[in-house]
Amino acid sequence: MPRGPWLDDLPAGVVVIVDGRFRYANRAALALMDADVPEMFVGHPVADFVHPLDLHRVEARIRYAAEAAGSNPPTEFRVYTCRRGARVLAMTSNHTTFEGRDAVLAAFVDMSHRAEMDARLQETERNFQRIMNTMQDVFYRTDAQGVTRYVCPAVKNVLGYSAEEIIGLPAAAFYPDASERERLVQAIRETGFVHDFPGRMRRADGTIIDISISTHALFDERGQFAGVEGIWRDITQRKAMERELERMATRDELTGLPNRRSILSALEQAIERRGGRRDAAPLCVLMIDLDFFKRINDAYGHLAGDAALQHVTAILQQISRDGDVLGRLGGEEFLLIVDGAGLQAAHDVAERIRAAVEGRPPPGLPEGGLTVSIGVAQWSPGDRDARALLDRADRAMYAAKNAGRNRVHRALAGVVEDTP
Ligand code: GH3
Ligand code: MG
Ligand code: MG
Repeated sequence: MPRGPWLDDLPAGVVVIVDGRFRYANRAALALMDADVPEMFVGHPVADFVHPLDLHRVEARIRYAAEAAGSNPPTEFRVYTCRRGARVLAMTSNHTTFEGRDAVLAAFVDMSHRAEMDARLQETERNFQRIMNTMQDVFYRTDAQGVTRYVCPAVKNVLGYSAEEIIGLPAAAFYPDASERERLVQAIRETGFVHDFPGRMRRADGTIIDISISTHALFDERGQFAGVEGIWRDITQRKAMERELERMATRDELTGLPNRRSILSALEQAIERRGGRRDAAPLCVLMIDLDFFKRINDAYGHLAGDAALQHVTAILQQISRDGDVLGRLGGEEFLLIVDGAGLQAAHDVAERIRAAVEGRPPPGLPEGGLTVSIGVAQWSPGDRDARALLDRADRAMYAAKNAGRNRVHRALAGVVEDTP
């Protein structure tokens, strides 16, 4: 057994064990074991220092090294120091002879720091699992081929499939339209991430849900695209609320028709599309006002008045064609945009409406009990916006009122013409 000052200078702990007791310890070993003087450690049984849960394993190693000529692979175990501090040591050992007797020569280093790191890693892992198990949004990860490699349990609530059913399948399988996922992947590849990217997914029961995706690209150690990782959230309810708000902002409550702002904006757009071109397709509007509607309210009550407005709405919807836009301008006044029709064609539509309202009174009213007056006007390339056009339609409508109501008048550009 070589002895010398260099063994005491070795930064690793070295001990010699004979019959289960320490017989030699170098300086690093004494320091690691908090021994102020060698006697606090040397001469004492190994069992006094090893953590009870690790003792069995350590003793087996020592026996093996003492009996056999082989050396033990590194093993980690916990010890108590002379001052009862706790450490984790990694030890290798092999057989030696010490003063003519079979002995164990062991070298060890302090692994307490590593053990702390492991504990912290485990804690992090536990926290991760806890978050994954409790979060309502869906965390997922795919590989470069778009195959789902991880998805958290919340996916069961949102999609109706368990995480196990989804892992290993291409993420695209859950998109109602594969091209939607292509757009997402494209966006991620361009910028490296997406935030609140809109998408849709198909649930196990077949229903389509709206989702919002926040995801970033993953790259391997060579910088190659390795997949994506992120979170998506079921926003079906939010979307439904947005659609409802949108509906409320653009629709008239009583009739369900586009409201004033919405129908006027549709008209502005139709005019804008024509860009003042002389050869643009014709465009007409019908300003439709119920005659003596105040009297209907007075005679039958406001509710019957409401029902009459709905009744007229149904007639207007029946007669207008695809591409026409019908809206409620206000009170008992409607606007029908007849896109693509010249003045005569629009006049014919207006006449059909007039006759239908007169001939099909709302329940409880006699035939002819409810009538409309209609002003028809055609857009001319000089009309830069809706105002002039609406004004002509309005004046034509009032001309119809003045002429006795229940009739159609049409306006030529600038002129209101009374037609039979
Ligand atoms: P005119 O032939 O000149 O158009 O006569 P009118 O009575 O139809 O015209 P006026 O503008 O004097 O009255 C419109 C009436 O329409 C007054 C209002 O009580 C009624 N009205 C407006 N909006 C509603 C509604 O939403 N429901 C009901 N029941 N009545 C409405
Ligand atoms: Mg009226
Ligand atoms: Mg009116």
